[in-house]
Amino acid sequence: MTTQSATTSIPVSRPFFGPEEEALVAEVLRSGWVAQGPRVAELEQRFAEYVGAKHAIAVSSCATALHLVMTILGLRSGDEVICPSLSFIATANCIVHGGGTPVFVDVDPVSYNLDPERVEAAITPRTRAIMAVHQVGLPAAMNEILAIAARHNLPVIEDAAPAVGAEYFGRRIGAPHGLIACFSFDGRKILSSGEGGIITTGDSEIAGRLRRLRTQAMSMSDATRHNAKQIVFEQYDEVGHNFRLTDIQAAVGIVQLRRLPDLLARRRYLAGRYTEAFRSLGWLLPPAEPEGMKHNYQSYMPRLSKDALVSRDGLMQALLDRGISTRRGVMSIHREPPYRDVKWDRLLPESAALTDESIILPLFHSLTDQEQEFVIESIQEIGATAKR
Ligand SMILES: *Cc1c(COP(=O)(O)O)cnc(C)c1O
Repeated sequence: MTTQSATTSIPVSRPFFGPEEEALVAEVLRSGWVAQGPRVAELEQRFAEYVGAKHAIAVSSCATALHLVMTILGLRSGDEVICPSLSFIATANCIVHGGGTPVFVDVDPVSYNLDPERVEAAITPRTRAIMAVHQVGLPAAMNEILAIAARHNLPVIEDAAPAVGAEYFGRRIGAPHGLIACFSFDGRKILSSGEGGIITTGDSEIAGRLRRLRTQAMSMSDATRHNAKQIVFEQYDEVGHNFRLTDIQAAVGIVQLRRLPDLLARRRYLAGRYTEAFRSLGWLLPPAEPEGMKHNYQSYMPRLSKDALVSRDGLMQALLDRGISTRRGVMSIHREPPYRDVKWDRLLPESAALTDESIILPLFHSLTDQEQEFVIESIQEIGATAKR
């Protein structure tokens, strides 16, 4: 047995905040401007600079970001948007909220991302967009997907919720690869403001419309109204939403963005140690990092091999018995009640297999080397004592 005490408790994920976040939040609270204001504008500017995008528009979550983007696409009943099933359910829900129909395409079993060949095969006269997801922080095959999209004159939307800081051939995700990318700042993401999201795009017209739509399509910002020297009246040009981020959240986000290089470096270090340890096991296959891509390891998601002596659920339970929390691999959306259809079971075997055979291990900034060693030793031990 390993020597770690029986009361060990290692979560799967944990946000990292310090006194700097607390100080900037306190400053915002004291300033009296807590709703969307100067801190949101600052976060937008810094985020756009960081990823290399012309525009960044902060919103209340990645789900609401994607919802606004689907509104921009102007989907009509029966319009199709191609996306993976192997993703968080928000990827598909936003298409339905936007009035369209998700068309699920299977993923590549190594990258966990959309298989470009299958994307092309799924295009029909009703296809309106392709949504690529950079799953668990590894960029999708954007060059191939963009080439297909160009051939069919379709926009590419990126669900980049888990992909802050990930790189694709030397450029960060969010620097225009597709038309629009959407990121998440929720509690489990590397850069967290509790809840929150941000949209990046190189298109000024789209950026302007997104800014209006997040605030009930009001024709001028609160800041413009606040600073006006003469009375002004706003107008509401279309049906919008309240999908705003607050300055309180933006204050957290600004400090988190400053920390991001450290957060990413620690994650890559810890991920490298897992990968090194699992290579020699044989039955737990580390995630891939294909040529030209830089993973941010939002999640560390290895896959059990077909000849593993322990089942995925058995491994999760045995780890939990030792106080180590894990999660199943990314869900397959097509198995959830709103999206169930027999055709998907036939078309999405890789997605379903990945959901069933992969596991998300603890990985977060404050995970100590010693705690990680306990996770690794536990997995080695569970594998060594497993019997069919
Ligand atoms: C986290 C996540 C979302 C949802 O982000 P929220 O900010 O929680 O709405 C959407 N898609 C993917 C792939 C995610 O990982």
